[in-house]
Amino acid sequence: MQRYKFYIETYGCAANKNDSEIIIALLLNNEFELVNDPKKADINIINTCVVKQATASRMVQRIRYLSSLNKPLIVAGCMAKAEKERVEKINSKASLISPNSIDKIVEVVKDSLIGIKRVELNGNSNKAKLPSIRFNPIIEIVQIASGCLSFCTFCETKLARGNLKSYRISDIKEKVINAIKNNAKEIWLTSQDNSAYGKDIGTNLIDLLESLIEIEGKFWIRVGMMNPLHFKKLEVEKLAELFKNEKIFKFLHVPVQSGSNKVLNDMRRGYTVEEFLDWINIFRSKIKDITIATDIIVGYPTETEKDFELTIELIKELKPDVVNLSKFSPRPNTYAAKLKQLHSKIIDERSKILHNLIREITLENNKKWLNWKGEVLVDEKIEDGYIARNIYYKPIFLKNANFGDFTNVKVTNIYSNFLVGEII
Ligand code: SF4
Repeated sequence: MQRYKFYIETYGCAANKNDSEIIIALLLNNEFELVNDPKKADINIINTCVVKQATASRMVQRIRYLSSLNKPLIVAGCMAKAEKERVEKINSKASLISPNSIDKIVEVVKDSLIGIKRVELNGNSNKAKLPSIRFNPIIEIVQIASGCLSFCTFCETKLARGNLKSYRISDIKEKVINAIKNNAKEIWLTSQDNSAYGKDIGTNLIDLLESLIEIEGKFWIRVGMMNPLHFKKLEVEKLAELFKNEKIFKFLHVPVQSGSNKVLNDMRRGYTVEEFLDWINIFRSKIKDITIATDIIVGYPTETEKDFELTIELIKELKPDVVNLSKFSPRPNTYAAKLKQLHSKIIDERSKILHNLIREITLENNKKWLNWKGEVLVDEKIEDGYIARNIYYKPIFLKNANFGDFTNVKVTNIYSNFLVGEII
């Protein structure tokens, strides 16, 4: 039997990367062969992201290039679902498969190879039960849910990933147990909003974490992005208490997006700046040096100079350790795209001001890590060395190390976005 070769390229968040890990596992299990050059493949797959305008433009460019090779093409991921017409305008023959339909990848590939176009955009895959092959051999990305409960005015992801569908705790736990047995040392719990986990199936993130920390073995869990929603104050206290567990990274990613309640309301975020700060303060009161990561969108159409100043004030007060700063860009078919947009010059200026402030603050925060000694996990090989993480999820550059090892280091230098260390 002929073994068909496939090539896949992947963009976007951890969830999308894991979708590709699943696609690869399903195809390899069905006798397909993975190649790393689209010219050598019998069929090409692009797993797309549309989170920003610039990323979407890159997707268009890559779909054009892959189409020019005159081989069957499958467009997967968020663009396939949220911008079907745009994809079809570039390549009307390409098959389309949405993030929630990836369990159908084998049949879609088989049909596409014989010239049948498939459009699979309304699936219901249980990703906790699907196999996956890790891009990083020691990091298991575990999607705990798909979609979310929110209706943010700027977000195209909602159009792609839909309403919340949480996977069962027992399925997730089984996946994590198998991953640990197969040498995973880091578990990334990911979804579009981890704070919403379980609301559709009568459970929640606390129950999930309590179940996962019972699993035997040495591994660290990274809890991915949570909106400051869906938890009552007492539950936030309980969640923060759980983060003290030795298996959970002291790392909290809560995206605030703006320091202005008016803008948050316009974005339909569903919380106030004060509620966001409550979350952070509860976590900080229980875990002093917890790493705080947040996201800011600068230049939302209704953001005035005053609103922007409130964001600056918030960042000064919050002193976060990581800020994912994005310039607002209108996404097709979203409510915010219909609003009168701010001039790009204003957005650029505001972004630059915030960028400089964030660099100053994160550098200042990192001073406390100089000469720190403790345990890290070497979880990434880069060109000129390794990146290791301590239990606070601080990235520490090491010139020499053994990938995948837990080891002890001393921090010898600091920068605004990473630390430098050596093994002791
Ligand atoms: S969920 Fe968002 S970040 Fe992830 S691939 Fe889709 S658009 Fe990109």
